[in-house]
Amino acid sequence: MKKYLSLLTIFSLLMLATACQPAEQTNSEPQETKEWSIALHGGAGYVSENMPEDRKEAYMASLEEALSIGSEILANGGSALDAIEKTVNYLEDNELYNAGKGAVFTSEGRNELDAAIMDGSTLNAGAITGVTTVKNPISLARKVMTDSKHVFFSADGAETFADETDVERVDPSYFYTESRYQSLQRALEQEEEQSGLTPLTDEQKAWKYGTVGAVAKDVNGNLAAATSTGGMTNKKYGRVGDVPIIGSGTYANDEVAVSATGWGEKIMLNVSAHTLAMFYKLKGATLQESMDYLVDEVLEPGDAGFIAVDKYGNYSMKTNTGSMFRAATDSDGNKEVGIWE
Ligand code: ASP
Repeated sequence: MKKYLSLLTIFSLLMLATACQPAEQTNSEPQETKEWSIALHGGAGYVSENMPEDRKEAYMASLEEALSIGSEILANGGSALDAIEKTVNYLEDNELYNAGKGAVFTSEGRNELDAAIMDGSTLNAGAITGVTTVKNPISLARKVMTDSKHVFFSADGAETFADETDVERVDPSYFYTESRYQSLQRALEQEEEQSGLTPLTDEQKAWKYGTVGAVAKDVNGNLAAATSTGGMTNKKYGRVGDVPIIGSGTYANDEVAVSATGWGEKIMLNVSAHTLAMFYKLKGATLQESMDYLVDEVLEPGDAGFIAVDKYGNYSMKTNTGSMFRAATDSDGNKEVGIWE
């Protein structure tokens, strides 16, 4: 009898201990919702902390500027789609970033651009790959979403579709920048020195990562994601990265919006943006837990970085590459602008 009583005591204590544990917060519990929020990135990689001061200032100033473009639209009641398109347009026009002007070169010395946009409220999306004459690829991707019955156009087909729209066109030489061209030359030299499949050195990775993206939640509760890139330096003929693959580099639904940057092949193989969204949905995890799962458990160190917002207006930005140009803000006045982890 005594034995049963003490077992009962242990059982009761265990029950009590369990009941007293703070409940894990899940995303379905009511929580304070920010009216709007936005996060953006300008690429993840291995940027040295010894970067020259003037260059660092140029990056920080452009991240601030990009953030103010998007946040002003949202604060004035504009849509998440407008906010992310205009934010990405600014980054595409800025040659510091590997998208639009400033895009990296393919192994054949061309600039071939990829972009995708997704509207979380309709689950519609638009994507393009391999365009060479469209000044702002994200705007063409948006037109694919709104003005065509398809989701994804490639190369010549994407150019033909662009002919039917009013998006601004440029000569391919517009995308030339000396620094990106030199990066290609270095990559080609290194390639000759390497035999077989040698892992990338940190220096090589630093040249290769870039890409810009933005995610937002607007005052109407709609979420959207956009990503635009020149891809990876020295990419081979016809290579398509993660960016325009819906669910890999870009994804949005009515709960989260995600944009990726990093090693496109790894991002793609893990269907990364969609993985974060499904972890959030099916696990009931918070945005930060979902981000941690993707960056720390699904991907490997050095692979990639992501930005995301959720239906409550929370934002999260995380990379496992050492650095990611990034910025975020919300209607509560929270704000973060940074480069290193
Ligand atoms: N993810 C991009 C790609 O693989 C590159 C990058 O983010 O820099 O095309």
